[in-house]
Amino acid sequence: MKKLIDGLQQFQTGYFSSHRQLFEELSHGQHPRILFITCSDSRVDPNLITQAEVGELFVIRNAGNIIPPFGAANGGEGAAIEYAIAALDIKQVIVCGHSHCGAMKGLLNLSSLEDTMPLVSNWLKHAEATRQVMRDNYGNLEGEELLEVTVAENVLTQLENLQTYPIIRSRLHQRNLTLHGWVYHIESGEVLEYDAVSHDFIALQSEIRTPEPEYNFHPTCPVSSSKSFPVPPASQSKGNHRQSVPIQTPLKNGGLASRN
Ligand SMILES: [Zn+2]
Repeated sequence: MKKLIDGLQQFQTGYFSSHRQLFEELSHGQHPRILFITCSDSRVDPNLITQAEVGELFVIRNAGNIIPPFGAANGGEGAAIEYAIAALDIKQVIVCGHSHCGAMKGLLNLSSLEDTMPLVSNWLKHAEATRQVMRDNYGNLEGEELLEVTVAENVLTQLENLQTYPIIRSRLHQRNLTLHGWVYHIESGEVLEYDAVSHDFIALQSEIRTPEPEYNFHPTCPVSSSKSFPVPPASQSKGNHRQSVPIQTPLKNGGLASRN
């Protein structure tokens, strides 16, 4: 505790003093540009890994960077999402999983949690789709590989859960919101982003590609070409492509190996 108190004093005399004007401005209101949803894990620090300034990220954190589907839980996540989009007019959402995630390890061994951590076990039910995807499609994986792909698949699950929220659906329809799926690697500092075009997690690029990737529709719901049913041709959503995702496992050297 002493270390924290010393740190607080250091913050007040150092960083705060040299950024006094910024904090004065922030005292009148916040204008974050990004809703950043990530795990509670102490090794993941959104502001540190993005080098974002105070006031730039609106953050939701919980075990496993999970977003319960709309109506499934009366928790804080839905309220924070609604506030971020409706009140703060945030137009970019990032769901960020991470390597060595304890919550995802728990998801892979859910039955063992029921007695020892019943609340965690119950919470992880909001990632049941991830568990089933892994069980049905990745039976050949084990150990670290299994965990890495689970983390990535869970990011996609939570991007889909996110889209069950009316405010999210509406803003996507207006093409006024972009969803991003990230996986942060604790051991390398690397971040991979889900790419809707290649259906893969790839090294994050700083340049915004233009044009943005085309909206990929659900393969079982082909979009009619009839003009009587106009659909926005290039919605910026990146997170609803579960069926055709050839998840690739990021290797320790930063390369990619197909695991489909
Ligand atoms: Zn985690």
